[in-house]
Amino acid sequence: MGQLYIDGAWTDAAEGGRREIRCPADGRLVAEVSEATAVDTERAIGVARAAFDDGRWSRVPAAERGALLLRVAELLQRDKARLAEAETRDTGKRLVESEIDMDDITNCFRWFGNLAATDDGRLVDTGMPDARSKVVHEPVGVCGLITPWNYPLLQTAWKVAPAVGAGCTFVLKPSELTPHTAIILMELLAEAGLPAGVGNLVLGAGATAGGPLSTDPRVDMVSFTGGLATGRTLMANAAATVKKVALELGGKNPFVCFADADHETAVDNALTAIFLHSGQVCSAGARLVVEESAHDRVVDDLVARAQRIVLGGPDDPATETGPLISAAHRDKVEAYVARGIAEGAVLRCGGERPTDPRLADGFYYPPTILDRCTQDMSVVHEESFGPVLTVETFTDLDDAVRIANDTEYGLAGAVFSADHGVCEEVAGRLRHGTVWINDFGPYVPAAEWGGFGHSGFGRELGRAGLAEYQEAKHIWTNTRPGPTGWFPSSTPG
Ligand code: NAD
Repeated sequence: MGQLYIDGAWTDAAEGGRREIRCPADGRLVAEVSEATAVDTERAIGVARAAFDDGRWSRVPAAERGALLLRVAELLQRDKARLAEAETRDTGKRLVESEIDMDDITNCFRWFGNLAATDDGRLVDTGMPDARSKVVHEPVGVCGLITPWNYPLLQTAWKVAPAVGAGCTFVLKPSELTPHTAIILMELLAEAGLPAGVGNLVLGAGATAGGPLSTDPRVDMVSFTGGLATGRTLMANAAATVKKVALELGGKNPFVCFADADHETAVDNALTAIFLHSGQVCSAGARLVVEESAHDRVVDDLVARAQRIVLGGPDDPATETGPLISAAHRDKVEAYVARGIAEGAVLRCGGERPTDPRLADGFYYPPTILDRCTQDMSVVHEESFGPVLTVETFTDLDDAVRIANDTEYGLAGAVFSADHGVCEEVAGRLRHGTVWINDFGPYVPAAEWGGFGHSGFGRELGRAGLAEYQEAKHIWTNTRPGPTGWFPSSTPG
């Protein structure tokens, strides 16, 4: 049974709670795991606080912290098969997708391993001959790390690797639906030599197991990836103790397609942008914003191809995309589609649960396209986090930019056109944290990831991804100290 990991020891939840984890592809029992409550999380926070305050990790030289992350990267590759299998059983996604995730996670640890090892602050010119000044980077302290279920270990790696690299201690709370790869990561961190108490894991539901991470005064920072509503709650909770907060929230990402874009490239990318992992991707290209003159050609082709995507579980080699994460999530997606149709959107494909008996035990939902959507419809603005594409049209570049930016979110967007000048102009004007030109989805650990607007704040990956877990401290040295004589009346003689 999967357990909590606190102070270097595997342990059951204090109140004895347990949770069944079932594969969303077929309902099969994956395992039972401990279900923490606030009591466990408060204990884990106390342990992480003590481990930070005694300097057992923060005073380890940066090069050694970086070296540990590089060892973890090796262990992730050694255990790739077991990790991918665990991720697939928890999420229902295809094994090949989990394997790709494990390689990305390895690269994330490598990036932060190398970056942390060479991070040494800087000297600042004081403009005075007798004063030296330097800015050093220190760890923020105790971090609460809260992650979602769609890319469970990937989202965890984006937080754990920089936190460890910076010298912080942490309490990790992964999604209660997908705990297994986080459990394995804790084993690998211990094997790589992370001292007991530096990294702690609690498993369980958001408000109970996760609650103290945003309220407890012993936590210095809370870094959260998940939905907008939860992010708001955490931010409000964190205000009372003035914690540092980093939020990676949802997206409603535009895929802007000009009529001169290469048809095959645009349609193929649009299909992957929204239907990869059945749309359960924060950066999914959920809004097709297509030039009116190309609408029929592009959308007809998309509809034809979307209908041919093969749904199934990870054990079926024909599967092209998997289930939604839970019955509750499928209900949410279904209600979203019904709302769109009621608002006047034209359902072009999907929209009904599959009837194939092979899929009866999983939470499947087909690729769905809602055509002729307009800015006043709620489906254009709300995140479905499922395999649902809304289609809007534009008439010129200004119109395209206006529509693409008409969202409270601002995570990612893409522009497709044969005219590079047009692409550059649109990319420059999109209010989104990542913009792809004639491509969709790639990222590298050396480049920052994060949102504008209600997609959150703070950055993961890149150099800023490490800085997020650091405080900059300015140290001033007077090399020829002496009295200033500022108050002449109280200066002797
Ligand atoms: P969620 O907000 O329901 O849950 C995320 C995590 O927060 C889970 O671990 C959950 O248990 C925990 N949680 C919930 N309430 C809590 C509370 N009161 N206190 C502490 N923890 C609490 O989100 P989800 O359904 O797991 O994930 C889907 C969402 O995540 C989508 O909106 C998606 O866009 C977003 N997401 C964003 C990114 C990004 O990089 N911006 C990446 C992946 C997912």
